[in-house]
Amino acid sequence: MELHYISIRYEGDFDALVKRLHVNGDCEDEFRDVYEDCLKIACPKGVFTECAASQEGSFSFIGGKRFESRVLLRNFEGLSRVFPYVISCGRELYDFARATEDPLYRFWIDGISEAALRAVGLRLRQAVQETYGAGHLNSVNPGSLRDFPLSCQRPLFDLLGEGPDKIGLELTPTFLMLPYKSGSGIYFEAEARYENCMLCPRANCPGRRMPYSEDMMAAYGLEPPKDFEPEACRNAARA
Ligand code: SF4
Repeated sequence: MELHYISIRYEGDFDALVKRLHVNGDCEDEFRDVYEDCLKIACPKGVFTECAASQEGSFSFIGGKRFESRVLLRNFEGLSRVFPYVISCGRELYDFARATEDPLYRFWIDGISEAALRAVGLRLRQAVQETYGAGHLNSVNPGSLRDFPLSCQRPLFDLLGEGPDKIGLELTPTFLMLPYKSGSGIYFEAEARYENCMLCPRANCPGRRMPYSEDMMAAYGLEPPKDFEPEACRNAARA
């Protein structure tokens, strides 16, 4: 298994962050100080690889790991390779947030960390395409859908070997990631656009990318959940 690492210099976008984090005019100078401190240390990172994919019955096999998921079965149908990955805002911003006592400053640092995560997510997607000559990529993410639960983080991390550890990314016993501003998933090639949101009925979600589709649920052979709350949707982190 060949691992590919990326780390980027996060350039930031002050005006966009002021807007996104609802920083009011009175606080803008204070926010700028925190923002500049973040930019000095920010080093978001990611790691990805290519794995062989195959299917047998209701199981998908990725790099020798077995996954039972209708979403994977349908999305990976006919594919011989997929691309597991993880991304993180980086330990630098995470440690800075943890060392900051002021709750407003922490909120700002978290918001900046999330933007840094999005930036590295975008770059990683390009890197997968460049490295493997891949076409249009969609992503499936453990924890976003009941059919592909958060517990699938374990085999996904295993597929990336020492990669997550090398970029300072830790998987907790409950399968959450530290730093919190991190993302994980499997990129797969497909001409048509796929978003987890199409199979997720959560109402009023600010991260929604596509409308929920009952037709799509039927096509994937999924029952509409009555009480579904995604365990750890990280859609915001993806490109
Ligand atoms: S972004 Fe929202 S709607 Fe989309 S999969 Fe995640 S929780 Fe569901």
